[in-house]
Amino acid sequence: MTMRAERGRVWALAIHGGAGAGRQEDGAEALEREIRHALADVLDATAHLLSSGAAALEAVEDAVVRLEDSPLFNAGKGSVLNERGEFELDASIMDGRTLRAGAVAGLTTVKNPVRAARLVLERSPHVFLAGPGAEAFAAREGAELVEPAYFETERRRAAFEAAKRNAQRALPGDTGTVGAVALDVHGNLAAATSTGGLTSKAVGRVGDSAVIGAGTFASNASCAVSCTGHGETFIRATAARDVAALVEYSNLDVEAAARRVIHERVASLGGEGGLIAIDTRGRVAFAFNTALMLRGAVTHDSPRRVGIRIDDLR
Ligand code: ASP
Repeated sequence: MTMRAERGRVWALAIHGGAGAGRQEDGAEALEREIRHALADVLDATAHLLSSGAAALEAVEDAVVRLEDSPLFNAGKGSVLNERGEFELDASIMDGRTLRAGAVAGLTTVKNPVRAARLVLERSPHVFLAGPGAEAFAAREGAELVEPAYFETERRRAAFEAAKRNAQRALPGDTGTVGAVALDVHGNLAAATSTGGLTSKAVGRVGDSAVIGAGTFASNASCAVSCTGHGETFIRATAARDVAALVEYSNLDVEAAARRVIHERVASLGGEGGLIAIDTRGRVAFAFNTALMLRGAVTHDSPRRVGIRIDDLR
C-alpha cells in the first residue's frame, strides 16, 4: 500500500533475468511460466518498497537478492558452473545520487553477491574487490555465507556437462543473469546486476556484471542501466555508461540511447545481449538483440508487465 505522504509521487522499477538464444530444452513451457511468475513476484514485492518511499538503492538490492535466491536465474542459487565445475559469482551496484558504487568478483561462498557489492559501496574505501579478499571482506562485514553446493541446480549441472561433451568453452546464449534499475519517490536512480557468468567460463574470468560502466551504471544526471549478455563485448563497449552518456551529453531519450548501444555499438562488436534502463522521469527502456530477454517493469502509473520474447512488451 502506498504511504499517504508519498501518494502521487513518481517511481519506477525494471528488472531482468538475462538475455539469450532460448535453446529448446525439456519442459521449456513450464519453465517459462515459472519464470514469468517469479519476475512478477519480484516486481510486486519491490514495488511495494518503492511506493512506500524506499530509496532506489534499497529497491535494486532487494529485487536482485530476490532474483539471486530463485534457482531459476543464473545468479546466487542457480548460477552456472565454470570450467572446473565450480561457482564464481560477480555483482555490482551503483547509487545515481552520489555516484558511489560497489562491485565484487569471483565469490564462492557469499549467498547474495549483490549484498557484498552493497557492503563494498557502504563500508569500504574501495569500489571493486575480487576473489579471496572480497570474500573475507564480505564475511567480516556480516554477509551470509553458504557452502558452494548451495548454488548448484540440476539444470545448470546438465548445461555444464553438455558444454563439456561438446568441448564448448564459455557458452553464451543461456539466459539468467539478473539486474534491476529503479527511480525512487525522492528522484534518485540506482542500478544493480548479479551473475554466475558464462557456463564453462575460465577460472578467474570476470564479466561485465561486476564492472561499473559496463554491466551497471547509474547517475541522477541521466539514467540507471543494467546489462546482460556476452560480458566481454559489454566491457569493451562500456555499454551501461554509453547509454547514460548518450542521455547526458547527446540529449537522446533513454529508449533511443538503449537501442543505439545494443543494436549499433554492442552489435558492431559482434556482441549479443540486452539491457534495461530508467531515466529521471521514470521512463523505462528495454533493448536486446537476442531472441529472448526475461524482463519486467512497473511504475507509479503503469501496471506491472512481464515479457520474455521480443513482442511480449515494448
Ligand atoms: N553478462 C554476463 C557475463 O558475461 C552473462 C549474462 O548476462 O548472461 O558474465
